[in-house]
Amino acid sequence: MNTANTKPQQLLHSPPAGAEYRLFGAAGTGGAYNSHFVAGAIFIGLAAVGAIDWWLAIWLDSCLAIGLLLDRRTMNRKLALRAMPGQMLLYSQVALRAAVHLLPYYLFAFVLYLGMAPVILPLNFAISSFAMLYGFYMAIRIYWLVRYLWVLHFHWERAGRTFQTHQANLKTRSSAIRHVLWAFFLGNVGLVVRCSSQVITIAGFEYLRQRMNLDLTKHPDLSGHMMTIFWVTTAIWLATFWFALQPAFLIYYRVHRTFHTCRPLYDSVHSIHHRGVLPTQLDSGTISPLEFALTELNLPAATLVPNWYWTLGQIILALAGHFPSHDTNTWMKTGHHHLLHHRLFNVNFGLIAREDKRYGSYYCEPSKATAPSSGPVEADLPPPWRQAVAAMAGEDD
Ligand SMILES: [Zn+2]
Ligand SMILES: [Zn+2]
Repeated sequence: MNTANTKPQQLLHSPPAGAEYRLFGAAGTGGAYNSHFVAGAIFIGLAAVGAIDWWLAIWLDSCLAIGLLLDRRTMNRKLALRAMPGQMLLYSQVALRAAVHLLPYYLFAFVLYLGMAPVILPLNFAISSFAMLYGFYMAIRIYWLVRYLWVLHFHWERAGRTFQTHQANLKTRSSAIRHVLWAFFLGNVGLVVRCSSQVITIAGFEYLRQRMNLDLTKHPDLSGHMMTIFWVTTAIWLATFWFALQPAFLIYYRVHRTFHTCRPLYDSVHSIHHRGVLPTQLDSGTISPLEFALTELNLPAATLVPNWYWTLGQIILALAGHFPSHDTNTWMKTGHHHLLHHRLFNVNFGLIAREDKRYGSYYCEPSKATAPSSGPVEADLPPPWRQAVAAMAGEDD
């Protein structure tokens, strides 16, 4: 166990250049603010200016409200409005840096879009990736919700088998059920953000294409060559796809690591996801909407894909890595990259191991002998976090 505890602690003492976003300005003082309230206000604002449907805003705000009611710890501990301006400034800095970092990739994607839009646009409109993806994720999440509730309610004595290493969320039956419901409702909000990322990007590109008069079909010299332009653009897109996908991994890593090293941002935004100390499948969506919006910024390459490829890719991704990465009781078992992040906090920030190896935050379980025991979760954590987690888990009722 010692190896697991000492090594990660040394990692963040001198972060290598480029591992995270450097932030300027004083960190917000006066405690944390609740990013759920901010997200709720943003949804209402978006509906008011007509950017989203009112029903969608009501659904999202209801999910946030249910999440807050189910987990009142958030209300009690995380609301400090005077901390908001300073911490929003920090958040904006991360967002701005990520956006600047991504700008060349978005410009490149926009140029490709101009060549592909005359052919793929009608197809993309015909099949809504949002409806398909949301339906798919919802079906899976409802399955896990029902399964977990069934086990917890009717087989509490045996629940330890399914929730073997989830003790931090499983002090009592009622707290375990509440955590599962909390994760389900909060996860719905992140889900909408995730499922709409392609739709939003294409809508933005299309708006620019019309505004800037860049519809190639209206150009007399080009209108007869649309299919040729489409295939050439597609070839360029396929040839550069891997290259354009790289910032997704790097930006996710940097944003995630910044949220961990900037304590005010951790408290206000990212700590929500770490409520699942050893998470269940449903915890895979318990991410602050603000953080989700930021980490989903990073897929400019994928957004050009016609809907069904995008949807299929997301489904494969979800089944292969997304859900298993948040549950020790899958065929992937303990020792999984992201589960170790949840347990040890300052290792394995990346979606994949590559960035962690590059920036010295990679950690893997040395052997089965040091794998988490069935003892208290707190014992596996580095000391500074142990108390925080113990306090968090103890506040259940
Ligand atoms: Zn994290
Ligand atoms: Zn996670």
